Amino acid sequence: MANIIDGKLVSAKVKQEVAEQTAKLKEQGIVPGLAVIIVGDDPASRVYVNNKKKACEAVGFYSEEYAMPAATTMEQLLEVIDTLNERKDINGILCQLPLPSHLDEKAVIDRIDTSKDVDAFSPVNVGKIMIGDYDFLPCTPAGVMELLKHYDIDVCGKNCVVIGRSNIVGKPMGMLLLHQNGTVTICHSRTKNLAEICRTADILVAAVGRANFVTADMVKDGAVVIDVGMNRVDGKLCGDVAYDEVEKKASFITPVPGGVGPMTIGMLMKNTLKAAKLHNNIED
Ligand code: NAP
Repeated sequence: MANIIDGKLVSAKVKQEVAEQTAKLKEQGIVPGLAVIIVGDDPASRVYVNNKKKACEAVGFYSEEYAMPAATTMEQLLEVIDTLNERKDINGILCQLPLPSHLDEKAVIDRIDTSKDVDAFSPVNVGKIMIGDYDFLPCTPAGVMELLKHYDIDVCGKNCVVIGRSNIVGKPMGMLLLHQNGTVTICHSRTKNLAEICRTADILVAAVGRANFVTADMVKDGAVVIDVGMNRVDGKLCGDVAYDEVEKKASFITPVPGGVGPMTIGMLMKNTLKAAKLHNNIED
């Protein structure tokens, strides 16, 4: 039976630390501010945005929401971003993805001032992560690293296999494990012998988006299994890992829900706090 990695607990700890540091900043008259832009009425995006607002309130941030109609033009969206870029009371800006298909996501992300890009999706921030000299880390992979740290799971010298190579999860995940001296393999839909590669993993991260994709035969005895996936099966949230069978082989495992998911917002709060410190020349 695997040890269960409790993302709710670790996320609460991260948010508690952010709240304590925010209280200290407030004594100096500084209130971190986060602006969240949502375009259209995607129900999942609405839930994420509401959760982000609640988290801001809980840690003591100022937050603003820009709910824009699905028919919003690039010009209108970029105008909102330009205004937020100029505002001194806004330290973090995020645009909830996905955007309606007529909008150019890359151009939108690129327009956000890099010092306010608390999702760390812009090419400049991605490049900084690549060279290991960064201010912000993308929230989901950073959340995974925080979980590993909390449970004293040492990455150094371990075989780390990441399934998935998206720009927001798989690729940065691989890079962060590499920064911690893991030996990293990133797999994708064209990978040959996927199960065989997965069985070499001391740390296996699944970021595929397919329920029950990782089965027990793909997991080495004693491996640490991190499930980033968020899938709906018959209305029920589940990850990419066939949890019931894999937890019998793993040494540590993240459940879904309650594993990686809660970490993402915690790390967003951490990034926004960091942005507020940077904007006010306060050392982290
Ligand atoms: P994505 O952009 O769809 O990427 C999925 C990746 O999985 C791609 O690289 C794809 O390979 C790979 N893949 C698909 N089928 C495969 C197969 N049969 N064998 C091997 N690889 C395969 O998804 P994402 O944005 O990275 O998200 C992945 C999952 O994490 C989703 O369930 C998402 O909901 C979840 N997620 C969770 C959080 C959180 O807070 N917990 C945050 C973000 C995302 P190719 O590149 O070759 O197509």
